[in-house]
Amino acid sequence: MPYKDKLKQKENHKLWHINNRDRVLLKQKKYRFGVKRLVFSKYCREDIKCECCGEKHWEFLSIDHINGGGSKLRQEHGRGYLYYWLVKNNFPKGYRVLCHNCNQSYGTFGKCPHQKLEMRDSYSGSIRPSQG
Ligand SMILES: [Zn+2]
Ligand SMILES: [Zn+2]
Repeated sequence: MPYKDKLKQKENHKLWHINNRDRVLLKQKKYRFGVKRLVFSKYCREDIKCECCGEKHWEFLSIDHINGGGSKLRQEHGRGYLYYWLVKNNFPKGYRVLCHNCNQSYGTFGKCPHQKLEMRDSYSGSIRPSQG
């Protein structure tokens, strides 16, 4: 085979990949979001929302391991793997849906300002001096 033909073949192959890359990426993305949505719907009782603050945009949501063991799995297998793992293991207990803000807060501080706010509200309600 003349060298030129071989080169052309290589070029064509490269071109095919460039042309199809976006399509492949889109397909992968779509599939990944599908898995994410499925997992969220399994862990939310009614609507898909953050269990802490009620954030409903599922683009902001993620799965949180209630006892904090999720980070190890994530470190070992990468971020997206957890969703596949949950599906594969038939949605085991001990996980919940949190938005990224709440997730980060629980991960770093073990609590979330949203919960504190609720506590403060009920607290101030109880110490309000009674009139009369
Ligand atoms: Zn939240
Ligand atoms: Zn929160």
